[in-house]
Amino acid sequence: MFEAAVAARATPTLAFLAEHGRYRRATSTFPSLTPVCLSSIATGAHPDVHEIPHLVWWHRREHRLVEYGSSFGAVRAAGTRRSLLDTVYEMNERHLGADAVTVYEALEDAGLTTAAINITCYRGRTAHRPTVPMLTRPAHGPKRFFYYSLFESDATGARLAVRNRPGGTIDAYAASVGRWLVTRDGFDLLVFYLSDYDYASHAQGPDAAHEALARCDTAVAGLVAAAGGEEAFLERYAVVVCADHGQTPVREVARLQERLPGARVTASNRAGMAYVEGDPRPHALRLDAEPGAEVVLWREGEEAVARREGEELRFRRDGEGFATSGDLALLDHPNALERAWAALANPNAGELLVSAAPGWEFADLGGRHHAGGGSHGSLTAGDSEVPMLTVGLEAEPAAITDVAPAILDHFGVPLPPYARPLARA
Ligand SMILES: [Zn+2]
Repeated sequence: MFEAAVAARATPTLAFLAEHGRYRRATSTFPSLTPVCLSSIATGAHPDVHEIPHLVWWHRREHRLVEYGSSFGAVRAAGTRRSLLDTVYEMNERHLGADAVTVYEALEDAGLTTAAINITCYRGRTAHRPTVPMLTRPAHGPKRFFYYSLFESDATGARLAVRNRPGGTIDAYAASVGRWLVTRDGFDLLVFYLSDYDYASHAQGPDAAHEALARCDTAVAGLVAAAGGEEAFLERYAVVVCADHGQTPVREVARLQERLPGARVTASNRAGMAYVEGDPRPHALRLDAEPGAEVVLWREGEEAVARREGEELRFRRDGEGFATSGDLALLDHPNALERAWAALANPNAGELLVSAAPGWEFADLGGRHHAGGGSHGSLTAGDSEVPMLTVGLEAEPAAITDVAPAILDHFGVPLPPYARPLARA
């Protein structure tokens, strides 16, 4: 979509940036779901380190479900207020791994100023009081922090109208705040998150959300204009443009709960997890009969097992790479071994991870799905590959986990110990 739109100049600002930068496709993480992916972008870590496992998961220590907003139905099923607090506060305060370092923490500890608009992984050092009485305590974010108008570090005059989401009102708010910040050159790093494209793509399918992509372009054009035009913008800023995950069309819906009696299933979009007592294998074998489950993953001792159509691949970490036995073609998805291993190594993940087959989605807690539209979450390339455009950066990010390290590298700030070495142009 990105490539076609740029080639057709349907998105003139992105086309302008592409002309001045370097473009490649990069891989996401697994499950390729927004809270997991945005945490990977903000920290440079896979879920083994950042510990956010899914949109919905079972909190073993607190013995309860965490639901970050799969759908209104799922949120209602998990408890609306609980879900709001988990999404707004707990994900950053408590769920995000203590060993993970956000790009805001790393840069501000080095004396720089960071700004974030609407990205849900925001953990930083500055307390921000909420703007609404419904929320009762501060959130700790970057110095300049704008979160769906619930937290606003500065009075920008931007207004959020949540009621016309399909019309792009969330991104209109982000665009307005972004222009205000750029006009003042009020940051060293700005993380500018536009979520309406994902929303439109879920509803209309990934090949039909042209209008939403054009609105993204207009939002970025607003930043460029606020800097004084194209030349001034590139003189002042280096730029990374990327998505957190892809989307693929979905037509059919599976209900994993019904296939896994006795397991605690958390599923949403195109990824599922099951929390089971004892040996996960018998549960995994039950999913042989589920056409919506393409790959089922679990740990057996020091090894991971991937099961697909009754065949198995075993793998384990071996230095920088993996030792495998079985047919490697079972995990023929982008960067699959590393992503699957990291997802299984997340202490908050279920014992069983399920990656959906092409065209399938798993019903969420509220029974909701996007059949007839688009979705993501699986290991498949369509869900897992993202456009990655960089302008003025030395590093060559090949994955969304390279974005934060590439930014730290740009500012000469040391990378966190878990970051892999960066490729360079
Ligand atoms: Zn989505």
